[in-house]
Order: sequence, then structure tokens, then C-alpha cells
Amino acid sequence: MFSYRHAFHAGNHADVLKHFVQVQLLQYLNQKDVAYSYIDTHAGAGVYALDGPQASKNAEYETGIGPLWERTDLPPALAEYVNLVRGMNPSGKMRYYPGSPYVAEQVAREMDRLRLFELHPSDSRLLFENFTKLEEHQAAQGKRSTVRGKRIIVNKADGFMGVKALLPPPSRRALVLCDPPYEDKQDYRKVIDMLNDALKRFPAGTYAIWYPVLQRIEARNFAERMKKLPAASWLNVTLSISGPTPDGIGLHTSGMFILNPPYTLEPILKGVLPYLVQVLGRDKGAGFTLESGEMTTTKSGRTTS
Ligand code: SAM
Repeated sequence: MFSYRHAFHAGNHADVLKHFVQVQLLQYLNQKDVAYSYIDTHAGAGVYALDGPQASKNAEYETGIGPLWERTDLPPALAEYVNLVRGMNPSGKMRYYPGSPYVAEQVAREMDRLRLFELHPSDSRLLFENFTKLEEHQAAQGKRSTVRGKRIIVNKADGFMGVKALLPPPSRRALVLCDPPYEDKQDYRKVIDMLNDALKRFPAGTYAIWYPVLQRIEARNFAERMKKLPAASWLNVTLSISGPTPDGIGLHTSGMFILNPPYTLEPILKGVLPYLVQVLGRDKGAGFTLESGEMTTTKSGRTTS
């Protein structure tokens, strides 16, 4: 059950797509002077050492953050995400990569609430430790710690279930990021069940679901099933760094499916995705898809490259 460790994949092309979108979603929420909840149902360890044994084993970051690291021509919206990663590497050498909890901690404001679920015994411990270190770092810089107390709560618990008690959030504003490993094919069904339940409790929430684009049957139908959920609107973006390999091994394409996305997200993605394909693409199979819809009717159809 606990074979998946995100450290082996930290900073890869799928993380780039996910964390870039996450930054945009949080920044949109920041525009209004009302607190929100950020709920991370599958938080991981929070911070990853790219020179550690796990991340360096296959060096997957070379498919993602690696090629972006020293670029000086980043589109402004993408630069916001890359600069966040650069900010945790003040020496200039790319050593650390942020997980989604760290991305949220950096972008969310002091008044916002972070609720993080991680079930793996080692990764939930690391998540606690990483936020404790962050607290010490903030104290050393003379900053008031935003970690302790009510702002950030780490739960070693099942995020599919834990999210239920947090919806609707007190301020009626929330982003839920759901990023399971999908090694167990039941995760596809659990995401759909979680979303059906969450939309009943809190229809106005923004829900961002990361998913792998794989040949397995559950994965092939997954985005189509999410389009049928009772949300007011949705946006589906995929990024491929190469075409499928003959042996079908490896993850070349991933997607982010967002229910109730901000209206700003689609134009931002249209501007940034061609750049990501150009910089991260490995062969002619590289490309992106972008589609959106309202309830059950497709609004703007597909954009592809
Ligand atoms: N969201 C993280 C990020 O972007 O940095 C990465 C998360 S990783 C893809 C998935 C994580 O979910 C793993 O750390 C795994 O241990 C954890 N996990 C698996 N099942 C879970 C569950 N039911 N509830 C909470 N965490 C779970």
C-alpha cells in the first residue's frame, strides 16, 4: 500500500505542470482580502532534496525543473513558479524542490489556512519535520512564525476522508488539491467519490486534481468522468513531453483537471504551455491539450499543439 514515495519523482515535468497551476490558483485566491483554506489531500513530504538518494536515482527533475532552472526567457506567469523554487535555493545551485505544501505555504497569506493530509508514516514524519525546520528558519530571520498554531495543520490521515470534515470552510473560500499516487487503481474511483461528496458540501470550491495519462483503462476514462461531475465549470490541461514509447513504460503525459477554475487560468495556460512544450519537449510527440466546459456543455473546445 505504501510503496509510492514522491521523492523519486520530485521536480519532474508532472510536478512542473501541477505546481505551476497551483501557484496560479493560489494567487487568484490572494486577490480578494478574505481568508481561504488550502486543503492538500495527498501532501507528500513537503520538501525534497534533489541531490538525495531517492531524487537522484532516476533524476526525473531533468525532465521538469532542470531545463527551466537557468532560463532567462521565462513567461512571467511561469517565472512566478520558477522563482519560488529559486527562492528555496539561495546558493544558486538547484538542491531543493518544493512539494505542494511548501508551494502553498509560500504563496498563501498569513490569514489563510493550510490543512495537509499525508498517510505514509515516513513522509508524514518528514512533512512535520520540514515545517518545523521552516519555523526555525523563519525565527532565525526574525520573522514571526506562520507555521505553528492554527495556520498549518498536518494530519497523518486519509485525505479522501479527511477533506469531508473541512467542507464547507468557515470563509466559504477554498482550494482543494488532490494528488494521489494512482498506483492503486482504486484511487481513480476514490477521487470521483471524493469530488461528488465535496461538491455537495461545498459547490463553490475550486478542486484541482492531478492525474497521469496512461493506457490503463481507469486512466483513459478518468477526465471524461470528471467532466460529468456537477460543477459549474471545469478546465482540463495535459502536458506531454514526448509521444508514447513502444514499451509503454514511463510517464510522458500528465494532466490537471480543475473544477470551478478562475477565469484567469485558461488564458495564462494558453500563453505558457507552448513554451513548456518547446523547453521540455523531447520529440515530436510533445504537446499539450487545453479544454474547458460549463456543466455538461463544452465551452471552448480543444486547443492542442
Ligand atoms: N502533492 C504532493 C506534491 O505535489 O508535492 C505529492 C503527493 S504524492 C503524488 C502522493 C502522496 O499521497 C504520497 O506521499 C502518499 O504517501 C500519499 N497517500 C497515499 N494515499 C493517501 C491517502 N489516502 N491519504 C493521504 N495521503 C495518501
